[in-house]
Amino acid sequence: MEIKPLIGVLALQGDVVEHIASLEAAGARAIAVKTQADLDKVDGLVIPGGESTTVMKLLDRFGLHAPIRSRVKMGMPLWGTCMGMIVAAHDVADMNQPTLDLIDITVRRNAFGRQNDSAEVDLPIEVLGAQPFPAIFIRAPWIERVGPSVELLAERDGHGVMVREGNVLGTSFHPELTNDPRVHAYFLKIVDAARNNVGKTSSAA
Ligand code: GLN
Repeated sequence: MEIKPLIGVLALQGDVVEHIASLEAAGARAIAVKTQADLDKVDGLVIPGGESTTVMKLLDRFGLHAPIRSRVKMGMPLWGTCMGMIVAAHDVADMNQPTLDLIDITVRRNAFGRQNDSAEVDLPIEVLGAQPFPAIFIRAPWIERVGPSVELLAERDGHGVMVREGNVLGTSFHPELTNDPRVHAYFLKIVDAARNNVGKTSSAA
């Protein structure tokens, strides 16, 4: 029997328990990641929503910045939701702190404006099928620039809100706050493909 993938949710700050529950509902095992030892065990990592300036400082303090970068560079799938996408981005239009720089996008924080602090939008996302996704935005960033190897998977009002570059996925919105498992399932497919690739490489070697 296929062993379920183990997904880590970065647990320095932010909505960790909701992601763990959603990942389990979508068929994975999930653990909170606070140390490099936790990170070493997982097949994929989610960086949840929260406060990007805080988490970028904590990544350094907990010694996780370099280990996360090197795991993802080696092929470990990463999904950033909202703050997580900001932290994973190449750069942030309105901030100078160093990011993880793992997906070639430029994001702008809190971009949808004060009157729109939080919203639920029926978002068409072709890779998830015909039914729009109930996307919850909370002080959400938008994506201002995508590099040549980045796929733009969804837009809201003409601004990018979901992107993928290889094994790295980013969403401006919060699928862990809905009962719709499709984005979690989409991420788990990326994780499965990555695990199969690793298996192939090592059995060929
Ligand atoms: N506005 C937050 C930030 O800039 C992100 C909000 C969220 O993750 N819900 O870090």
